[in-house]
Amino acid sequence: MESAPETVTRFAPSPNGHLHLGHAYSAIFAHDLAKAADGQFLLRIEDIDGPRSRPEFADEFRRDLEWLGLEWEEVPAQSTRIESYREAADELFRQGMLYPCTCTRKEIEALGARRGPDGMVYPGTCKGRLLKHDQPAALRLDVDKALIHLGELVWTDEEAGSIVADPREFGDVVIVRKELPASYHLAATLDDAVDGVTLVTRGADLFAATHIHRILQELLKLPVPHWHHHKLLLDQEGKKLSKSRGSPSLADRREAGEDGLALAEQLRLQQMQSGI
Ligand code: GLU
Ligand code: ZN
Repeated sequence: MESAPETVTRFAPSPNGHLHLGHAYSAIFAHDLAKAADGQFLLRIEDIDGPRSRPEFADEFRRDLEWLGLEWEEVPAQSTRIESYREAADELFRQGMLYPCTCTRKEIEALGARRGPDGMVYPGTCKGRLLKHDQPAALRLDVDKALIHLGELVWTDEEAGSIVADPREFGDVVIVRKELPASYHLAATLDDAVDGVTLVTRGADLFAATHIHRILQELLKLPVPHWHHHKLLLDQEGKKLSKSRGSPSLADRREAGEDGLALAEQLRLQQMQSGI
């Protein structure tokens, strides 16, 4: 008899700032799901933000996770996988699914673009335009074209159920940045496939991004995992926790001598109470 595939989850932080409680919640969520299924919990450092990515934050993250009592296997950081992003982007380009865009953020704002889940929704100005030689350009996904080519795509969220992929609320997202051979969408989608992740867990704030990831999987013929977007941990006023509102970082708490295992237990209790 064939055995069911192992459950593989991951925590994929970007080392451009400290981790805070929301990250701990997310990491514990992924860790516990894997452990409960006798599977694997991976740590992947998403360090392709140029000078914003700092190795000292990655070291800090490892100490934070250890302090919380988590066990993980670390897979190669994104900065070591640039060639695979380039190859995938080339493939998408060959398929005619990407087009160059030279617009700056300011120019897109000036077009009166509507806001989507990930900032301004690009109105497609550069589609079909000829590029002047040597102009720095990002590559955007032609979402309408991809949808016509692929037809209806469905993905499964273990909380929300079966979802029809509708990436139009994002518009034509950037797949290759002007200064980098990938964007978050391309890099994370490829890496999850290569790392054998079977259950992608992350906060509900990234729910909409999954529509894009599902399209990329189909175009690149990648395996399709399940997802579980969890509720976001809120502060006492019911607002999303973030650094900007001054919630202490995990490193601050750890260095102040707080008990990480007790904190992890408290977060697990909150997870149970919020029913995720
Ligand atoms: N590096 C991304 C972040 O920190 C990962 C998001 C994801 O889990 O897909 O937001
Ligand atoms: Zn443009």
